[in-house]
Parts: sequence; structure tokens; C-alpha cells
Amino acid sequence: MSAALASRKLNPVPERLPVFDVEALRKDFPILSTSVHGKPLIYLDNAATTQKPPVVIDALRDYYEGQNANVHRGVHHLSQVATDLYEHARERMRAFINAAVSCEIVWTRGATEALNLVAHSYGRPHLGPGDEVLISHMEHHSNILPWQLLCEEKGAHLRVIPINDQGEIIMEEFDRLLSERTKIVAVVHVSNALGTINPVKEIVAKAHAVGAVVVVDGAQSAPHTPIDVRDLGCDFFAMSGHKMYGPTGIGILYGRADKFESMIPYQSGGDMILSVTFEKTVFNYLPHKFEAGTPHIEGAIALGVAVDYLMRLGMDRVAAHEHELLEYGTKVLQGVDGLRMVGTAREKAGVLSFVMDKAHPHDVGQILDEHGVAVRSGHHCAQPVMQRYGLAATTRASLGLYNTKADIDVLATALEDVNRIFS
Ligand code: PMP
Repeated sequence: MSAALASRKLNPVPERLPVFDVEALRKDFPILSTSVHGKPLIYLDNAATTQKPPVVIDALRDYYEGQNANVHRGVHHLSQVATDLYEHARERMRAFINAAVSCEIVWTRGATEALNLVAHSYGRPHLGPGDEVLISHMEHHSNILPWQLLCEEKGAHLRVIPINDQGEIIMEEFDRLLSERTKIVAVVHVSNALGTINPVKEIVAKAHAVGAVVVVDGAQSAPHTPIDVRDLGCDFFAMSGHKMYGPTGIGILYGRADKFESMIPYQSGGDMILSVTFEKTVFNYLPHKFEAGTPHIEGAIALGVAVDYLMRLGMDRVAAHEHELLEYGTKVLQGVDGLRMVGTAREKAGVLSFVMDKAHPHDVGQILDEHGVAVRSGHHCAQPVMQRYGLAATTRASLGLYNTKADIDVLATALEDVNRIFS
């Protein structure tokens, strides 16, 4: 690829489209025009992963066809092009979440690795016997297990903030659990199982008042709502690219520079050092200290392109569109005989989790599939949430920016078929 193309891709500010036109943008996702079992695909599994627009797929292809070289290593032209694109994508992620500087953005494999990085590099040196880590009852397993394992190792205690029947954090219980023993508060911004949007800003302010750091699992919020990490005030924020219309295997950990500076490396090897002798190693500057080895270069570049795409649409308009769909979907599903919603928080993102009187969630998922409707049935990697409601599983329809009211209508018709089959 020529330097000309590279500089085109470095074009700094994505222009906001004049309008948010769902029918027009659906054409950006050819997979939405495919069929499943002879029926048009209705894709409602966006919380699991999102579909990719051609600009993202093209970025992957462009990289391999014309830009492929290792980053940060060579003085040759291609290596500089690849490095520019890779670092430009990092800058794009910074802008997307309004971090102060791009060295606060560390590339990871996804939210899971980002949360493990915080547990290892911040949690391990800072936790001791009797200390406490607070998480909520609605966490995804990837924001439970790193803390559970670490607490076991350190003799620290994992405390769980209870949730109410609607699926909201009980803030009085949070206040009660928070103390000077609390070293880390790790909460999900938007629950993948319930759709609840948590009051992260308030949680951060309260946690900081007792000297605790706050880790936010933003895997389900970043794709659906504007994120401003400085406004939230959190210390760490984890995201997964594949849930944001970008590739799999890439995500980011945002961390405040002062926190990152003071932390030990996560993994060690190439690229994360300034100098190595057998006696002593000096670690690299941020963010490279946390990026050992050859990274997922093309994934980072393509995630930057996905974020350009989202910024062009405007996350405020994405959020408004999905909220309208959520309200419509909630009303329509409540009209389905024998269907009960699981997760009815006042502040909710586009997740419709439910159970049906007559059919098991897996049977529901299978019948919906026969109608071309892709949903998720299971515990959604949030077994404690299921236990809270005395359930083994739910069926979950999760919305994305390309969904329409017509998609919800097909879902409702398919659910009527479930009732007919099981009557
Ligand atoms: N947190 C939440 C709330 C999630 O929904 C997910 C993915 N389902 C994750 C963390 C983990 O993301 P990943 O598997 O992409 O690392």
C-alpha cells in the first residue's frame, strides 16, 4: 500500500453523518441480507458479538495486501506505515472514550484480558489479607473470576453488592459494604444478562471517597452509548472490539496514566522493554509496558476504523435508536402469552432477556432459529445472575444499531409459534 493510502487512512476527524438512517446503514452489513433456514436473518445476538461493516473488513484486507509489517521495530517504510496506522487507531480509541492521552489506551485481546490485566498488575501488588474487593451480583464471569482468584491468593475478601428484583444495584447496600477495607470496586457498566445501566459515576465518587480504585467492565456499554471516561472518573475501563462492530481478538484497557505508571507489567517479552541485560531490565514507556510481543496489529487498525464508523453515526444517535427499539420491544414482548422479562431496571440498554412458561430457553432459541431469528439462550456467562432469579437460563434478544422494529415483530411472531408448538 502506498503512503498515499496510509495518509488517507490517517484522516483525523470522522465527519458526522447528517442523519441516522437505519435503512441506509443496514446496507453496510451484507450479512443482514442473508437467509437462515430459508428465512431472512434477524440478528438479535449483538451482546454476544456484532456484525462488521465492509470498511472494517476492508481494513483487515488492506493491511495484509499493502501494509503488513511488524510495528515499532523496523526503520523501513512498511514498518513505519503499519506503526502509524496502529498508533493512529489507538488515538482513535482515546477520542472515542475521551481519555486524556493515548498512552492511557492499552491494546488487549478483549474485555476479559483487560480485566485480568488490572487484577494482575494493579490488584496483586495492592491487595493484602483482610482487604476487600467489591463486585456486583450482576457481573459477567470475566469480572468475577480474576477477583475471586486474586482474593483467594491474597487472603482478601470478595464482597458482592446485591441487586433488587428489577436487576438494579441496591445502592444502600453498596454504601453499607463500602469501607476503608475496600481496595477495588469492579462493576459492569451495562449488564449483558439484564441490560441494566449501572450508576457508575456515583459508584466511582463513593469508592474514591474511601480510597478504592474503580474498574468498569464496559464490554456492553461502549458499543451502545457515548463513553466519557473522564466524566465517569473511573480508574480503569475495559472494552471488547468484536462487540463494537470491530474484529475479534482485540479490545482495550483504559487506565489512568498515574495508575498505569505505578503498575507492574502484565506479560513480559519483546516491545515492553527499553533495555535488557541479564542483571536488569528497564521497562518501556506507557502504553508499551503492557503490550508484550507482536500485537494484533490488523485488529487494532480495523477497530480504529470501526470506531470511525460509530463516530460518524454518532453514539448519541445509536443510543437513542436502540432505546426506542428497547421500549418498543419491551411492549411487544410483554404482550406475548406466558412471557416474563428478566431485568426490568429503570435505566436499561438494549437487552431483552426473558423466560416463557411453556418452553425451556433452549427450545425457545431453537424454534426462533428456525424462523431465522438469532438469539442467545443460556446463562450468558453470568451464572450468579441466574441464581439470583432462581433460573438456569434465559433467552436473550440483544439489540444493535442496525436492528429495526420489523426485527422485533418477527421475533414476536416466532415467539407466538413457540406458544403454539408447546400448547
Ligand atoms: N463483560 C461483559 C459484560 C460481557 O458481556 C462480556 C462478553 N460477553 C465480557 C465481559 C467478556 O468479553 P470478551 O469475551 O470479549 O473478552
